[in-house]
Amino acid sequence: MEDQTIQITQSHSKKQKPNSEQLEFGRIFTDHMFIMDYTVEKGWYDPRIVPYQPITLDPAAMIFHYGQTVFEGLKAYKTKENKVLLFRPEMNMARLNLSNERLCIPRIDEDFVLKALIKLIEMEKDWIPTAEGTSLYIRPFIISTEPYLGVAASTSYKLMIILSPVGSYYKEGIHPVKIFVEREYVRAVAGGTGKAKTAGNYASSLKAQEVSEKQGYSQVLWLDGIEKRYIEEVGSMNIFFKINGEVVTPELNGSILAGVTRDSVISLLKYWGIPVSERKISIDEIYDSYKNGSLEEIFGTGTAAVISPVGELNWEGEKMDINNGETGPLSQKLYNTLTNLQNGTEPDPFDWTLEV
Ligand code: PMP
Repeated sequence: MEDQTIQITQSHSKKQKPNSEQLEFGRIFTDHMFIMDYTVEKGWYDPRIVPYQPITLDPAAMIFHYGQTVFEGLKAYKTKENKVLLFRPEMNMARLNLSNERLCIPRIDEDFVLKALIKLIEMEKDWIPTAEGTSLYIRPFIISTEPYLGVAASTSYKLMIILSPVGSYYKEGIHPVKIFVEREYVRAVAGGTGKAKTAGNYASSLKAQEVSEKQGYSQVLWLDGIEKRYIEEVGSMNIFFKINGEVVTPELNGSILAGVTRDSVISLLKYWGIPVSERKISIDEIYDSYKNGSLEEIFGTGTAAVISPVGELNWEGEKMDINNGETGPLSQKLYNTLTNLQNGTEPDPFDWTLEV
């Protein structure tokens, strides 16, 4: 794989770039995409960058029937000096292989796919928006393509990378959200696919999301799938609580996705000397800490919103107001630091950013 050269076909008709003030999330795509194929005989082959275009698949392709697919999500940022930065992209490549392993999809060569991703971004760097809070979202994904209706691992796959200029997740900047604690539906169970980034996890989360939105909440807080007592994630983010000066987050237990932002927040807190621990956290513990006044802040972490403070938690009709519904000082500090590191406005003591 290392020796393969990436064939490039330039697009002749360049699309009009969007106004960077009006960007939404994931609706506009750039001029080119990366694609490569896999068969058992050839391994991963024919890596190429081509004009962004629809793909043709057999209706029996296994992706349509049994959902054998994985994906990643990361961002490229443009600095004031016009440099292009990626944030810890090697972690996304490693996580893609963890997801592959769980879904019986063949491993990728992480260094090669990162190289391909960088090549694509170099070609599309004029698409990286520069307004505050904007970036170029990168979506690598793999689908199973064998035309076969048997339930088995496919023998052929396609890996693609597409790029989408995206706006600030919340138009008003960092903004507290209302969260509904979900008691009926579950996202994942230990032994299931929760720790993998695979489509089925997101398809099965839609129902709870729909119900909570109807009640005026923007996301759900997922509890564990067995006792429905221990906190797992919030929407498609990891979750943190600040209780009595200490920051806690659920430990990675097999059903929680190991977020890159989660890992970065833990490292930053340790660097700042703020106590942080990864452990089991029950919803009763959170309610008790709310009642006795020791619950200071709650926030979600993820690539899309970076830090998403929680302003209200509804647990079985009991509404907990968190930090008076406002963004807490720690949430704000983490948001500022992470976004400054990502867009190169603060020196990076961790060597997290990679210049394209
Ligand atoms: N949990 C889930 C279920 C997610 O989809 C994501 C987004 N990738 C996260 C957590 C946060 O992960 P990251 O910080 O790597 O974006």
